[in-house]
This record gives sequence, C-alpha cells and structure tokens, in this order.
Amino acid sequence: MVDPEFIVADEPVSALDVSIQAQILNLLMDAREKRGLTYMFITHDLSVVEHISTRVAVMYLGTLCELASAADLFGSPQHPYTRALLTAIPKLGRDKPGHISLKGEVPTPVNLPEGCVFHGRCIHADKRCKQEIPILTRLATGTNVACHAIEEGRLK
Ligand code: SF4
Repeated sequence: MVDPEFIVADEPVSALDVSIQAQILNLLMDAREKRGLTYMFITHDLSVVEHISTRVAVMYLGTLCELASAADLFGSPQHPYTRALLTAIPKLGRDKPGHISLKGEVPTPVNLPEGCVFHGRCIHADKRCKQEIPILTRLATGTNVACHAIEEGRLK
C-alpha cells in the first residue's frame, strides 16, 4: 500500500479545474519518474491521455478497439472510432478540419449489437461488420486494431 509499483487511476482529474489538473498530472509524472511507477490511467479526456501516456488502449462499449504507443495512436490513428475521437479534441487555432461526426446513438451496454459493437455508427461498416466480431490484430507498425475494414484493406 505504501510503496506500490502499479497504480490504477480511474478518472483521477476529471472533476478538477484545469490548473489543479495540471498540478496533479505533474505530481503523478514526477512520482512515476522518481519511483519507477506504472499507471493504468482511465479517462475520457484525450488531451490528458496524450500528455501522460506511453501506451494507449481505446475502448468502445467495453470492447478494445485499438492498442498502440501514444505516439502512434495520436500520430496515426487506425480504428474508425479512434479517428473520430481524435478529430473531436478541441485545439486552439484549429477550426476542426476533417472533424468526423458520428451518426446514431451509443447502444445500451446490456444489449450489445451483433458483430462489431461500433457498426451502427461506423461509415465503413458492411455486412460482415454486422455479423462477425473483429479480432484484435497486430499491424506491421506495432499497432493492434480490431477492424474488418483495416484487415481487408478497405481502410488505410
Ligand atoms: S469492423 Fe466494421 S463496423 Fe467495426 S470499426 Fe471496422 S469497419 Fe467499422
């Protein structure tokens, strides 16, 4: 308890204002450096993810969509959900070029759709996506992604 190696932090800064958030994040990063800690940091705030992470897992409805180094994920997102998420990050001086709006509603987690859980909102969905769950697959870049369109080369 007093000398951990691994800490799970679930939305640790989401209720804080931005200046306090920055202080807490800096404290966490200092502690990581000095004590050799590993964090599993759970958050909806992608700016925080980009700031603090070395490796990122993107989940939709409890399903792993993409797993990659932070540099690869933010530099070259693969999964359609990750791509849409990253275009939604507000940035100063950017008028959201290429912003991807997701259609439809998030399905209820107690009654998940068949096939890919994202198919109802994905512009690349086809018949296979509605029937078959995509498997997380490692690409040559080292990114792991669960998407039929990428596996089939329909989405590059
Ligand atoms: S598997 Fe199909 S529905 Fe799911 S993200 Fe890929 S293209 Fe879209």
